Amino acid sequence: MSKRKEFKIKSLKRVNVVPSIIFVLLLSFFFFIAIVVLQFCFISMQFEDKVSVKHLDATRFASYIEKNITTIDDDLELAGTEFKDCEYVIYDAQKEIVASSKNTTFDRHDWDAFPLKSDYNFSLERNVQVSNVFGENETIDPLQFIDNYFEKNDHIHLFSSDPTYLNATACAFPGWLRLDLLDGEYTLYYRLEAVFTNRDMNNLLLVTIFSAILVAIPMIIYIISTIVNIVHQTKARRIFYLDTVTGGKNWVYFTQHADKLLKHTRRNPNKNYVLISLRMDKYQNYCLCYGGKEGEDLVERFASIIKKQKLVRKKELFARYTEAEFGFLLQYSSEYETEIRIQTIKNYLLACAFGRKIDFSAGICEAGQEILSSNLYGNARIARSNLAAEAPSKIAWYNEKLRNDQLWEQYVESHMEEALANGEFQMYIQPKYAASTRTLGGGEALIRWVSPKEGIISPIRFIPIFEKNGFITKIDDFMIRTLAEHQAKWIAEGRTVVPISVNVSRAHFARPDLAEHICEIVDATGAPKDVIELELTESAFFQDREVLIGTVSKLREYGFKVSMDDFGADYSSLNSLKDMPMDVIKLDAGFFRGKSENEERGSLIVAGIIDLAKQLDMHIVAEGIEHVEQVDFLAEHGCDLIQGYYFAKPMPVTDYETLTTPNT
Ligand code: C2E
Ligand code: MG
Ligand code: MG
Repeated sequence: MSKRKEFKIKSLKRVNVVPSIIFVLLLSFFFFIAIVVLQFCFISMQFEDKVSVKHLDATRFASYIEKNITTIDDDLELAGTEFKDCEYVIYDAQKEIVASSKNTTFDRHDWDAFPLKSDYNFSLERNVQVSNVFGENETIDPLQFIDNYFEKNDHIHLFSSDPTYLNATACAFPGWLRLDLLDGEYTLYYRLEAVFTNRDMNNLLLVTIFSAILVAIPMIIYIISTIVNIVHQTKARRIFYLDTVTGGKNWVYFTQHADKLLKHTRRNPNKNYVLISLRMDKYQNYCLCYGGKEGEDLVERFASIIKKQKLVRKKELFARYTEAEFGFLLQYSSEYETEIRIQTIKNYLLACAFGRKIDFSAGICEAGQEILSSNLYGNARIARSNLAAEAPSKIAWYNEKLRNDQLWEQYVESHMEEALANGEFQMYIQPKYAASTRTLGGGEALIRWVSPKEGIISPIRFIPIFEKNGFITKIDDFMIRTLAEHQAKWIAEGRTVVPISVNVSRAHFARPDLAEHICEIVDATGAPKDVIELELTESAFFQDREVLIGTVSKLREYGFKVSMDDFGADYSSLNSLKDMPMDVIKLDAGFFRGKSENEERGSLIVAGIIDLAKQLDMHIVAEGIEHVEQVDFLAEHGCDLIQGYYFAKPMPVTDYETLTTPNT
């Protein structure tokens, strides 16, 4: 899986709870601060209101006293007036108390202790030296002062002629407003105390509840929506990892978790895993017989029995890969134990088919130091697909040979473009001889990779790789062009020119304009088309027949000869002879090899095919002929051309040219 794809999948499955929680916490914190600030504002507003009301009372009281100054020395009677509850103290110029309220909370010794006798205003502001209170020369640490004072008094009293100052400190200490009466003849101290009443308390409570509700509603909504979101994401995650056929975990889950386990195990030299690809053979046939639904049900039963019987242990995994193929990540202790476990799993799976005949094959790859489960699983599949048909256990291990094949494939793929550009691919020609006259009658162009590092590489080692990766179309084009160029050159040189065949891979037939494409290549060289024969392998005829018939017909119309290569190699269908308008049949070398007791039967078939081809007006070429008896037999039965080591092996063009001199 590419890094980008992996990241995409990871980000899809990630449940983003952490940012939501952080957001909720931050939100709660800010709302809490907001409530505290709101309450503080509310309380200070309440106090300011109260103190300013008291201040007005004080000025009214002062003017009341001034008007009734004569009664001061007598008993100042405030009962029945609006000032009956106020707290006050009045001094004369000698600092003697001339009147005070009955409810005053001040003791006489407070007054003594307190430096009222001095003319200084007492002000205890933060960072202001208390020394002001006691005189310029006295310096007292304010904290020490308060400590000392508090030792003697429960509370501290502040005195000021400035109501604003008292407003600000009223919450902390009782404040006394100093007002001069009758131009300083008397001094009035009027208590500005803002008392926090039950009503204030209720108001505060109401404000708190109201603001808490205001804060809580959006927060609760947000928290609920976050929870709903998390639930949805968890559900989505489950769906994301769900295999729709088995109802268990799917392949994405398998690879992600297998990678983690493998990574973890790599650090532990005592632990090892194996990746197993276990596939039901001929699943498609089973579906054809019993229906696709029954096929899926069977696969579901496989998965559920593996789970139910706990065939896969803790820290092991399994999931469906595709159709009826399961991947397993099992802990590895020995080859024997692994094979026993696979056999046990197979036995349980076989029982799921209720007696219907099914079978499984398995490929195993040991993890070792590899941590990518997809690579290991790929290897396990390679091992399984290379399983020898006759292997009784139907279990194959990924081994050194398969590894080397893979390395070779990688080497070929990384060098092929460069090799083509550097001219490392060369055309060899194997001559074909006329069976009757035993003279040169044709040839086949065969590719060779002449590598400076590897030497001459046979096409069997790279053509199948090119067919898989699509590079074969470039190779075929190269061969057709090279052959056409040489034929044109040899005609120009006046040499003996015979038709030479060239292989066209079946992968090329996916191209709908193949006939036109080949025609263009040959036309560009100026070579006549009747000296070029195009060989198609017989297996190509079983693919898209309609397209193939169309292409073959067009090629023949353009003037090319078309031959059916390796006729009889695999599953021959005589139908292909009926439908396909071919010019030449190339009898596969297999007819002339094998056990001697079958020789007679083989000869009869060859003779029959030759006969048939003659009647269909087709030419016959026999391939892989190595012995004179074979040549004699073919000549006797009317075979047209013979290609084989008996006459000549494939040779470089320069060698072939020696056969085509005008004198030959
Ligand atoms: P093919 O087209 O059937 O070619 C015949 C193969 O049989 C050649 O193998 C040839 O060397 C071999 N052969 C001929 N006579 C004898 C004989 O008497 N005894 C034995 N043992 N072998 C004989 P080669 O050259 O290794 O090619 C193998 C296959 O690779 C070809 O089989 C063809 O399918 C493919 N191939 C080769 N060149 C090309 C190419 O240019 N394009 C494509 N698409 N395929 C090619
Ligand atoms: Mg061929
Ligand atoms: Mg052949």
